[in-house]
Amino acid sequence: MALATPKEPFRAIATTPGELDRLITAACREQMAAVIAGNGGGEVFFIGRLNPARVVEAVEPLAFGNRGAVPALLPYARPGDVCIHNHPSGRLEPSEADIAVASELGGRGVGSYIINNDCTALRIIVRALEPPTLQPISVGKLANWLKPGGRLAERLAGFEYRPQQIEMLQAVGEAFNSDGIALIEAGTGTGKSMAYLLPAIAWAIRNNEKVVIATGTINLQEQLIEKDIPLLLQNSGLQFEATLMKGRNNYLCRRKAQYLREHPDFLQIGEKAAQLAEIQAWIRTTRTGSLEDLPFTPDPEVWESVMSEADNCLRTRCPFYDTCFFYTARRRAARAQVLVVNHHLLMADMAIRAETENYSATAVLPPYQRLIVDEAHNLEEVATSYFGVRVSRGSLAYCMRRLFNTRRNDGLLIWLAGRIHNGEYPVAPQQHDELLLKLGRDLPLQHHELLTAMEEATGRLAEALERTERTPLHQPLEIKRRIKTEDLAGPFWREEIDAPLRAVVTAARPYLENLRAVGRALLPFLEEASPELATPLLELQSSLNKVEAAIGRLIKFLGSAEGQCRWIEYRRRPGGRLPDVTYCLAPLNMAAELRENLLRRCRTVVMTSATLTVDQRFDYLLRQIGAEDPLQLGLIGPTAAEASASAAPGGEELEPPPAEPFAENATSAAEIIELIPPLPSDASAEPDELPPPRARPFRALILATPFDYERQVYVGVPMDMAEPTDPRFEEALTGFLGPTLEISRGRAFVLFTSYALLGRVFDRLAPGLEARGYPCLRQGTIGRSMLTEAFRNEIGSILFATSSFWEGVDVAGEALSCLVLTRLPFKVPGDPLTEARIEDLRRRRLDPFYHLVIPQAVIKFRQGFGRLIRTKTDRGAVLICDPRVATRRYGQIFLRSLPTQRIHFARQSELLDALRTFYDDQPGRDDD
Ligand code: SF4
Repeated sequence: MALATPKEPFRAIATTPGELDRLITAACREQMAAVIAGNGGGEVFFIGRLNPARVVEAVEPLAFGNRGAVPALLPYARPGDVCIHNHPSGRLEPSEADIAVASELGGRGVGSYIINNDCTALRIIVRALEPPTLQPISVGKLANWLKPGGRLAERLAGFEYRPQQIEMLQAVGEAFNSDGIALIEAGTGTGKSMAYLLPAIAWAIRNNEKVVIATGTINLQEQLIEKDIPLLLQNSGLQFEATLMKGRNNYLCRRKAQYLREHPDFLQIGEKAAQLAEIQAWIRTTRTGSLEDLPFTPDPEVWESVMSEADNCLRTRCPFYDTCFFYTARRRAARAQVLVVNHHLLMADMAIRAETENYSATAVLPPYQRLIVDEAHNLEEVATSYFGVRVSRGSLAYCMRRLFNTRRNDGLLIWLAGRIHNGEYPVAPQQHDELLLKLGRDLPLQHHELLTAMEEATGRLAEALERTERTPLHQPLEIKRRIKTEDLAGPFWREEIDAPLRAVVTAARPYLENLRAVGRALLPFLEEASPELATPLLELQSSLNKVEAAIGRLIKFLGSAEGQCRWIEYRRRPGGRLPDVTYCLAPLNMAAELRENLLRRCRTVVMTSATLTVDQRFDYLLRQIGAEDPLQLGLIGPTAAEASASAAPGGEELEPPPAEPFAENATSAAEIIELIPPLPSDASAEPDELPPPRARPFRALILATPFDYERQVYVGVPMDMAEPTDPRFEEALTGFLGPTLEISRGRAFVLFTSYALLGRVFDRLAPGLEARGYPCLRQGTIGRSMLTEAFRNEIGSILFATSSFWEGVDVAGEALSCLVLTRLPFKVPGDPLTEARIEDLRRRRLDPFYHLVIPQAVIKFRQGFGRLIRTKTDRGAVLICDPRVATRRYGQIFLRSLPTQRIHFARQSELLDALRTFYDDQPGRDDD
């Protein structure tokens, strides 16, 4: 590693602002001085990340107290970083121990600085070094591991050679080696997780760079962390650390739990106290403190009373800091080379980085530049919900409930008043009475006024909506109504929404101001005192933040909705619960955010899923991630066709459907290898600036499934079925399902797109099917995973389900031998966001049907279809009960997107005969 050539004479001591600025930014110095002060002036060890001018531009405090803590710091430091620690004495001469540590760090390419406590003087022991050049990984060697006779092929029980897996591994490896972007659709059974894990791990080890893998579902996270990664650790010979990182609220806060143990009446958990007691017992045995490891699902209010929260944490001043579940997980994440997260956490991190323009320090995730997004077909939806706004009377009341309970006249405000009154918070005499008045009189009154204003606002809107409704009051009712720009001048918006919500915001102001005033008066106790005194104040701060955030969301809802869709949702349920209104806002388009903050900021991006394409084309995904326009990405120019050729599913149709003239043949941006300007291949570029225009490979690849769908699946479409829009559809569907499910001997998923239809069909069919020995399960009766488990365990059972079961559910083997897709999964008409996106596309002169409605439905349809065959030995039938798939032009897009083209279009009676033959031919079938 070469030492950098200094541009100016080297000075080991920096004492003037100018000299310091050349080594550490003023913002970092301020941050470090604050952390040191927070540590009572004791020693703190920081890791500093350098910008290309080798100025420290981000710091993270990593060890406190003494030099013995330094070894714990080593795994976090990368070559090119600098370790900074303070000398509380203010004398900057390095001690023997400092020199020993600096030598150790220097040997790893890490520089060492000493500063004084207020960061106004600095001494260099070892200068920050030039970061190393990145080393490519040997893709060919890794691919050999997965070939017959290869390292993993030899060691993994039941290993199967899959050429598609090798092809995917090579594409991912090249994306790492060339700072590239790769979109890879890998059919079910490709073994895609292994295909991306191997190059990701090899890259992380070779270059000491973190790789983030983001998944959409918990199932996949579990598969990676509990199965695939341990398998590689045991069999690959690669030494690495990988960890699952969850959102902060998933971890228990030991300090909050201890306070509640000592003060059981603090948060008025009341009748749910038994759950709290179980959690307290669990703390003694849990190693992770993670909600998922708790053996029962707690009431949200109970969990919230003990969960870790960013604004309710003492950090380094916490007596549990060293054993804190959240910080332990975070330290593990900082060390790990491979970090598994979910899409939501990825979006939370992206939002903070985009807002703060900080790409080199920890936000929600540690800094990273290599990203793999699995289940990427869902990323845009998660991004939309993350960046959207939702607020209701119920959610506001939930945020406020801890502060004051109007019915019982207790809560945090009264608790604090009692403590101040008893002298536990020794406030100045002139503040004492004022605080008691605020806490005991003004705030409870204002709390009540705010809740009343919100109740009036939602009640008034509910009344207005009910006036035009004819659904009887004892029946459930759900209304979604979009508010367009032109509606803002009308009386409905002005009188039923805008004015009442402004009254809510007005009522919130004095309440929030008084809460802040109380917080300010008690601030010294938060900053200096024991956790005993700090805990109620942190709780106050956290509750205040939540109420402020909810009011902030209402203000956003009332503001300009430029580029967004605004709507309200009204829900009335029978059973005496108060009807509620939710005020919603969602971005129309996430393309720019995803493009700027993921594609352009990360040096490697791999997006993969079994369903990324529609009709063998990536256009829909490219539009979602903002990559469809070469100019926007600064492409140097399109080159060769590539994407679609590799894997169009083949097969003979039993009866050809009508010809499809769709796709007037626009060139798909996915079908070319593009050149996108990359981030530079060494770390010497300014990470916060967009990269210079240099060639960066962009690859889109479709890999066919290795399963033999022609042999494993029978696909039928009943052509004499009424169309779903026909009033006779329900009757026809029920009539067809009865014999179908008997022929399949249960063992079926019946997937709907509406709960209402599901409920009616279930009610008519279940009694008869149950009587014949086929247990019928219905979505909504128990949790999703329990329902899936029950289905798996009871061969012959039938699951009636809707949208969430169209994807992410994995039932291999005989338990699932029949799949009924009751209709094409178009979004329900009237969905405000879809409606707004349709208009937006029209404005942009794009056909919304082919650019949005069809692609959304095709991806869902393909996901649904994919539930059936999970292994090479699975076998079963898929019945598509929506004849439009054959009779409408667009139906061809659905069919062409399937992994088999061997589809039987026939009358119901013929299909049932064919189905009987199919199951009779099933290998190993008993003729029972
Ligand atoms: S460090 Fe923060 S999250 Fe952890 S136990 Fe302490 S207060 Fe709770």
